[in-house]
Amino acid sequence: MFGLMQKHSLLISDLIEFAQLNHADTEIISRRVEKDIHRTTWAQVAHRSKQIAHALDAAAVATGERVATLAWNGYRHLELYFGVSGSGRVLHTLNPRLHVDQMTWIINHAEDHVLCFDMSFAPIVAQIQSRCPTVKHWIALCDAQTLAQSPEVSECVPYESWIAPHSEEYIWPELDENTASSLCYTSGTTGHPKGALYSHRSTVLHAFGIALPDVMNFSAKDSVLPVVPMFHVNAWGIPYAAAMVGVKLVLPGPALDGESVYELIEQEKVTFAAGVPTVWQMLLNHVTPKGLRFKHLKRTVIGGSACPPSMISAFKNNFGVEVLHAWGMTELSPLGSLCTLKNKHLNWSEDEQMALLVKQGRTIFGVEMKIVGDQGQTQPHDGKTFGDLYVKGPWVIERYFKDPHTALKDGWFATGDVATIDAEGFMLITDRSKDVIKSGGEWISSIELENIAVAHPGVAMAACIGMPHPKWDERPVVVVVKRPEFDLSKEALLNFYHDKVAKWQIPDDVIFVDSIPLGATGKMLKTRIREMLVDYRLPD
Ligand code: AMP
Repeated sequence: MFGLMQKHSLLISDLIEFAQLNHADTEIISRRVEKDIHRTTWAQVAHRSKQIAHALDAAAVATGERVATLAWNGYRHLELYFGVSGSGRVLHTLNPRLHVDQMTWIINHAEDHVLCFDMSFAPIVAQIQSRCPTVKHWIALCDAQTLAQSPEVSECVPYESWIAPHSEEYIWPELDENTASSLCYTSGTTGHPKGALYSHRSTVLHAFGIALPDVMNFSAKDSVLPVVPMFHVNAWGIPYAAAMVGVKLVLPGPALDGESVYELIEQEKVTFAAGVPTVWQMLLNHVTPKGLRFKHLKRTVIGGSACPPSMISAFKNNFGVEVLHAWGMTELSPLGSLCTLKNKHLNWSEDEQMALLVKQGRTIFGVEMKIVGDQGQTQPHDGKTFGDLYVKGPWVIERYFKDPHTALKDGWFATGDVATIDAEGFMLITDRSKDVIKSGGEWISSIELENIAVAHPGVAMAACIGMPHPKWDERPVVVVVKRPEFDLSKEALLNFYHDKVAKWQIPDDVIFVDSIPLGATGKMLKTRIREMLVDYRLPD
């Protein structure tokens, strides 16, 4: 017997309709590529997303065809999020930090039909235009006057002129909720990138999930700043959850330096922000020496790579800002877990609470987790036993775009991360499986060793990798960028480890470098660090 409730599809167009109807005058603030601050509202975003839908109809872009974006976080990008997916096309967000060859490969693989770009990416577009034959429409995210000042790109249409002739009213199609809505390629370190193709259903369910109180806890009273780019897993789904709840959105554009982000947080009374640790480090580096304060900021989600405990305590103790450590990946839309305390933890000591808060946290309804050992056995949730982390759920990938093979093993997706899970469900990522350091048959967590290094006041950034060793198989070494004002020696840093980890886990060496290579999503590129150290030999 079936239930007797309405079979109403979960659609992205419903999110923007809801925001238009219920939060019409709530503001969307953007720092534009043009550097000025632009103010609009959910009602205006809805109107213009409908104009986009008309423009795509007029250009005969079929349902399911890909519309790519090469854009920062801004209102036009937001309008495309709803106009493209809402009208049944697939929004394909491109990462502008990729090499042009890789970007061209992705565009051709995705067979993008339209490509919309911010003017700061005009030089990239000029390089790829002749190499992307499937792209029939190049839309410059600006007005005609601005486009005219960029002669390097040809045959482009200014966005404002593209949408202007069209009506602000549009009847959204009643799509099946499993219709594809958006596409995002993973920043794989080996082989070609792979596409995660999200559906309307997975996107809306994910938005419900992230808005929950023990997750991002969004409210219509919040002013939300996603510093995480809209080209990286849809800014962690925040734009969709923002429309669902009717928050004020603050979009930082290309200015991600500490000073610009701080200015926006204060001016727009941001209560909630989200980003990767590297961006928050830049923010802390700006505010700490100047003695600045956050007047409104209450919570910040930090994820994408491990958030060092020193960053969590700096935000909490020096600024009264709660850090929510989150874990996820492109294949998970992206959120898998987030760290918030349970009621029973509230009377724990600060140190005990901190020991929990540094973990990647509890899974949320919608993602099931298990850890699996070397022999394929499911590992206990005892907070000590390591295992490969597997997940499943309605917003977890089943297979990659254009790949006929399943990405699952017995219904579970192997994340490639290694983790422990405790009896309370708190998960701790110890490594990527390929980054695990195995010394004398024992696993050493590179993340733990990196966290200790960056807690030293003389360290700006640290990466820990395993180096081949004739007896122990591998031994850890830590690659460090020093803070310029600090005279840090190798011995001092190694001493710093002494009371923090077992003796055999202390790195064998410290290698000082000027910079650590970062990937397109701001994560340390360990493959490149290993390449840098091909001739390196461990000390005797
Ligand atoms: P991406 O698909 O590019 O977002 O990368 C996903 C990967 O980033 C995960 O599989 C993890 O290896 C890593 N990652 C994401 N969040 C965290 C976190 N909070 N701590 C440690 N690693 C993380």
